[in-house]
Amino acid sequence: MASPIFEHVALLGIGLIGSSIAHAIRRKKIARHIAIYTRSRETLDRSRELCLGDSYHTSPESAVTNADLVIFCVPLGANTSLIRECRSALAEGTIITDVGSCKRSVINDIAPHLPDKVTFVPAHPVAGTENSGPDAGFAELFDGHWCILTPEECTDQKAVDKVVDFWEQIGSDVEIMDADHHDQVLAITSHLPHLIAYTIVETATDLESDLKKEVIKFSAGGFRDFTRIAASDPTMWRDVFLNNRDAVLEILGRFSEDLTSLQRAIRKGDGDQLHKSFTRTRALHRGVIAAKQQN
Ligand code: NAP
Repeated sequence: MASPIFEHVALLGIGLIGSSIAHAIRRKKIARHIAIYTRSRETLDRSRELCLGDSYHTSPESAVTNADLVIFCVPLGANTSLIRECRSALAEGTIITDVGSCKRSVINDIAPHLPDKVTFVPAHPVAGTENSGPDAGFAELFDGHWCILTPEECTDQKAVDKVVDFWEQIGSDVEIMDADHHDQVLAITSHLPHLIAYTIVETATDLESDLKKEVIKFSAGGFRDFTRIAASDPTMWRDVFLNNRDAVLEILGRFSEDLTSLQRAIRKGDGDQLHKSFTRTRALHRGVIAAKQQN
């Protein structure tokens, strides 16, 4: 067996993403030891029952002691307090990474608190489901999906290479990108679609009850997929919109203009405009299929 990339990986947070990483590490024996910290006793006990780790910790300091890789797998709003709590226990040479869905804010939250000779390589695995918690994870979650790394120019290249290697062994295709660019791209590919799904389902939730029953009964006509997306974790998504505010507001402005234009076309009975718009969008879907991003 080839020697593992890391000796001792600490997972801070063991929900959908943390537990999926634990399964994927075990599948390919990417590390010798997995240390798990999570905030609540209940989640820690459950992760022990599921045998997700080799050691279980009630404090982040204890989990990161001896770790050569530390992965922050918590909602974005929890990163600052977590790095403050564990920084004194980080050994020289440790690599820190994360899985957060926004990247500039994570860099701003974590980097100022890093001790000397500890390297931060921010990461975002672009894979997920609407489920949360340690029972939701599975080893194949990241297979064939992008993991975007957003190191700063001054980041130690050897650390970046190790994190690239780690995510490739987990099953992902890795792309390196500037953090601000990541946030702009994800604002349209992920954050805006989630906001639209939350809005549509909220509109339906407020309908009078007779109509609502019919909405649920006939939901397979498109609405069902929105309900699945809008069932995603509220804490995670609250933090995404608080942490990628500028990019989301920019894309939301463009979206609102396009929506208003289609609204006007419907009101005026302008079939040509509607047909032209819907033909243009079909072409983009063909590009998505060609890029093997349809699943
Ligand atoms: P999750 O299933 O809800 O798990 C969250 C974990 O973080 C749990 O261990 C939870 O601990 C802990 N936690 C929650 N609030 C905390 C706080 N205030 N302080 C310390 N720990 C806290 O979440 P997830 O889906 O794995 O998401 C984790 C990260 O992955 C997020 O930053 C998200 O942006 C990113 N991400 C998510 C997806 C997705 O589809 N879900 C995809 C890509 C990236 P307890 O249970 O012990 O309270």
